[in-house]
Amino acid sequence: MIAEILCIGTELLMGQVLNTNAQFLSRRLSALGVSQYHQTVVGDNAQRLEDAYRLALSRADVVITSGGLGPTVDDITKRVAAKVAGKELVLFPEAEEAIRARFRRYGRPMTENNLSQAMFTPDTTLLPNPNGTAPGAIVPMGEGKVVIHLPGPPNELQPMWIDQAEPWLQQRSGKVMVSRYIRIFGMGESQVDELLSDLEMGGNPTLSPYCSPGEVMLRATACADDAAAAEALLLPLIGEVQKRLGDVIYAIEEDDTGSLARCAVEALKRRGWTIATAESLTGGLMASSMVEIPGASAVVNGGFVTYQTVSKTMLVDVPAELIEKYDVVSAEVAYAMAEGARKRLGTDIAISATGLAGPDGGTPEKPVGTVFVGISTPERTRVLPLRLVGDRLRIRTLTMKHAMNAVRIEAERM
Ligand code: ATP
Repeated sequence: MIAEILCIGTELLMGQVLNTNAQFLSRRLSALGVSQYHQTVVGDNAQRLEDAYRLALSRADVVITSGGLGPTVDDITKRVAAKVAGKELVLFPEAEEAIRARFRRYGRPMTENNLSQAMFTPDTTLLPNPNGTAPGAIVPMGEGKVVIHLPGPPNELQPMWIDQAEPWLQQRSGKVMVSRYIRIFGMGESQVDELLSDLEMGGNPTLSPYCSPGEVMLRATACADDAAAAEALLLPLIGEVQKRLGDVIYAIEEDDTGSLARCAVEALKRRGWTIATAESLTGGLMASSMVEIPGASAVVNGGFVTYQTVSKTMLVDVPAELIEKYDVVSAEVAYAMAEGARKRLGTDIAISATGLAGPDGGTPEKPVGTVFVGISTPERTRVLPLRLVGDRLRIRTLTMKHAMNAVRIEAERM
């Protein structure tokens, strides 16, 4: 099955709205194993939209639209699709009632133009919209092809896609796709690729790499008649990847929303540990990345942003003489920061970071990217010396990721 995404809205062309719907849909389609060869953004112009529909339908089985389902004159998505299909729009009473009920619930009068949101070609399958007014629709376009209309607001589009459109597509294909996401930290993309290139050539199951700063994620997907058969296809592939990559794999998950911070928080929960942070160059990023995870309050006690030298002494008791002797960016200071934070808050573990995020401040001995991460537990305190490469944001992000990985390893250590 080939799909094509067609996002409609002049605001997208003007750069006023970032096209996150295309990103969301692309990720979901690739997880389903549906191929995509083109994507289009078109403004609210009937002729150009008609051309875009005809082109997309000439090369894809399923055309997925986002936006332009509202009641205003520039909401032309359905009307133009109907024209391309050679059909008229008619009023769907159940959609009309849902829209009227929504207005009643909010105590607002409904203007007549809202009824355009209840009009579809007669053979349409409606996709009810529990989060907004405009229903979505699956519209047959002839020759076995369909257009799936989705509303523009992401909080309406995403649940409609996940709960309704995706199951419809899966049922239509008669196959089930199962994916696993293999997360890797501590090995670069090219090395992963070299070790796995033969496995990435496979047709079913497939193995595809995705990169983000410091990390590689592999998606393994299998297609079969049912979930159990798809999982049986995946198992040997995942086993082979584990054998080749070893312990740089930090998680194998059923969705792609995981992160090192989530694994760190989960490892701390399993161990029953609380954590404190003392952060210089990351300025709160380590604490924030853990607090993003629901349920983090069970493990994250608190933290210190000790950005200037003086606050390292005032807040986490790093002796001024130590800083004087070894320099503020040093293993000794990272060590003392982690111990100080742990003792101040009485936690089971503490993590610290001091380093040079740049762009200025580097020296030949300590170039930008020199970072020390400290990890302290009552049993041991150790320091991870890092030489990171990249701009300020990347160095800070990588520092946070190394710290989260260190927390995870420490919490899992028996
Ligand atoms: P409604 O009229 O009910 O708001 P609609 O389907 O007509 O829905 P649009 O009017 O096209 O949708 O867009 C509504 C809002 O949705 C936009 O202002 C924008 O904030 C968001 N939006 C639209 N398209 C996208 C997109 N491709 N990616 C992210 N957000 C989008």
